[in-house]
Amino acid sequence: MYANIIIDITHEKLDKIFQYSIPSDLEGMLKVGTEVVVPFGRANRETKGYLVGFAETCDYDPAKVKQVLRVAEKSVAIEAKLVALAVWMKDHYGGTMIQALKTVLPIKKEENVRVRRRVCLLLDEKQGKEKLDFYLEKNQRARARLLAALLDTPVLDYELVTKKLSITRSVIRALEEQGVLALESEQVYRNPIKNRTKEARTLIHTEEQRRAIDCFWADYSRGIRRTYLIHGVTGSGKTEVYIELIDRVIREGRQAIVLIPEIALTYQTVMRFYKCFGDRVSIMNSRLSQGERYDQMMRAKNGDIDVMIGPRSALFTPFPKLGLIVIDEEHETTYKSEQVPRYHAREVAVARGEMEDASVILGSATPSLEATYRVSTGEYVRLELQNRATSQELPQVYVVDLREELKNGNRSIISNRLHELIEDRLQKKEQTMLFINRRGWAGFVSCRECGYVVKCPHCDVSLSTHRGGRMVCHYCGYEQPRLTTCPECGSGHIGEFRAGTQQIETFLQKEFPDARILRMDMDTTKDKDGHERILSAFANEEADILVGTQMIVKGHDFPNVTLVGALAADMSLYADDYRAGERTFQLLTQAVGRAGRGKKKGEAVIQTYSPEHYSIVTAASQDYEAFYREEIAYRDLMGYPPVENLLAVLVSCEHEELLDKASHYLREYALRVGRSERLTIIGPASPGVGKINDVYRKVIYLKEEKYDTLIEMKNKLEQYIEVNSGFNKVRVQFDFNPMNIF
Ligand code: ADP
Ligand code: ZN
Ligand code: ZN
Repeated sequence: MYANIIIDITHEKLDKIFQYSIPSDLEGMLKVGTEVVVPFGRANRETKGYLVGFAETCDYDPAKVKQVLRVAEKSVAIEAKLVALAVWMKDHYGGTMIQALKTVLPIKKEENVRVRRRVCLLLDEKQGKEKLDFYLEKNQRARARLLAALLDTPVLDYELVTKKLSITRSVIRALEEQGVLALESEQVYRNPIKNRTKEARTLIHTEEQRRAIDCFWADYSRGIRRTYLIHGVTGSGKTEVYIELIDRVIREGRQAIVLIPEIALTYQTVMRFYKCFGDRVSIMNSRLSQGERYDQMMRAKNGDIDVMIGPRSALFTPFPKLGLIVIDEEHETTYKSEQVPRYHAREVAVARGEMEDASVILGSATPSLEATYRVSTGEYVRLELQNRATSQELPQVYVVDLREELKNGNRSIISNRLHELIEDRLQKKEQTMLFINRRGWAGFVSCRECGYVVKCPHCDVSLSTHRGGRMVCHYCGYEQPRLTTCPECGSGHIGEFRAGTQQIETFLQKEFPDARILRMDMDTTKDKDGHERILSAFANEEADILVGTQMIVKGHDFPNVTLVGALAADMSLYADDYRAGERTFQLLTQAVGRAGRGKKKGEAVIQTYSPEHYSIVTAASQDYEAFYREEIAYRDLMGYPPVENLLAVLVSCEHEELLDKASHYLREYALRVGRSERLTIIGPASPGVGKINDVYRKVIYLKEEKYDTLIEMKNKLEQYIEVNSGFNKVRVQFDFNPMNIF
């Protein structure tokens, strides 16, 4: 028997199987997925690698085959079925096998595992919130910061608390003395949420929920595994359906994975699962240390838990008998990885489900075009929840035409209608959320006389101003002082345009001097807990108005918000991107849904220069079907995903000439081998950002109805690149059905 090994070096030319013989002392110790040490290269340097299979015969001269040296120390073996999934991912998304293997094994055992200390919350949610208010009132910031973090994740690594949250020992001790938290140290795999007892569920499902549950269960109990799309507005009771079905799947002796976008992984959401499944649930999030994540993976592998909740990477939880994968908010763009392999969690979930005999449930109020399209082709099954579970009315929506506003002499960013409604809310002591769907810092600097735009010398993007008086590149971090005269024409009329969140905040403060205003954007949320801090302050009604970028409309529920304003709804509409209409619709629909989540009815104002655009019209009327019909017709006409498939080939290089040549050759080669008549090849083109950090970029698009044809093309291009020395200094990456046009 020979061992097929993938060497742990990311290099296209080493991306193949190397065969080694197995010494007798290792026989029986090696399995698919084991991390091993082998001699590699001419110098026989000891190198790590993963065993991905066995072979009876050797493809090389058996006399020259080297031996596996040993199993790697402190190694974490990859489950054989996850190795199979990695193979599928490499095939479907490109990149090297080692990159794919590392994606399905996102954690490593910690070096030198010592006894770890942890900080555990002792209060329940209500007590914790009261205490938090108290600290905030007393302006005890460090205490508040620690408690807020614990309210989010009730057990935290001690090191993480002292280092990342910069909490001193004395603060921890003070909270310990007050009975807020306890310190503990253990060595076994711990449960990050302790002392959580199950609560009996008393909820009676609505008619719609029951129908969805029955439909799924009729299939599942007969061994039929499929992908279901639960389409239901926020508040329609999707989460309750997930919980019921997970419960049934667990009773069959199987386990479930629940993916939730990191931003929506709030204390309330997570607690709903704990209340049902007690300590059989675990959670992954970026707050957990590497070692804690490892522990959670081991608990899953050992059968100590049944449910894993987490963002994208939780998809690779090594459960022994997976039965169900749930992807909540399946339309979220964060489900697509931006690193090689650039996989989409939805597709990988379906693939894993097929391999391991598990079903998949996708949930969304605004399903992706992909999901609904696959319902229409019969690939997925749609389950609908049309009404809110708690008979709340949907908000009243007003669309304001900003052109009319201008005609009537209002040049400000707040229309008269919105102004009145904000006034009204301030009087009623209800809250308002205002957002622009673009980042506050995107205000570039240009000359009003000659039109010169200040750009980063290393990247093909304009610099943005910061209040501190500096200009910053958001791609590479380059900074320079703000210019006062134009370097082109010497004019003093150089400055920044367009309103960002900062300017809106300043404007609002002038218009509503008594209002308490909070701002949330990239600048105010730089530190790790920035998000949480601002959102919990707003939830505690410490402010009347929250201004921000689109990040404010995601995730959180604020019962006292009865007014939502989209200040310039079309800012995302004319982005040079085929998903712009979809993104705008989703964002506005979510935003509108934020108004009136409590007992009071909500209102929403959408300000726009294009009130007739279908994304805006259908978002205002909350009509998903109408939006889908328009959008899919456009995608069909243009041959864009999901009707056809699109492969972006990203070529990058430090030398512009080399890049031009290489991308030209790639295109020629693609034309030559792309025999399918329906294949369209576009480019090489300069992407929107043609240079990042002194590396130039080009992109070639391949379009075809069949995904498999694009995989074949990718394979051929990969082989071409491997044997062609012209590509030694050129990087080529593949992105299937990209989220952005580059
Ligand atoms: P979604 O996940 O679709 O946003 P949730 O499952 O969170 O919806 O439900 C919204 C609210 O309605 C939650 O507070 C939930 O507890 C409640 N709810 C859901 N289903 C029912 C039901 N059948 N009876 C009473 N309340 C329900
Ligand atoms: Zn000028
Ligand atoms: Zn730059």
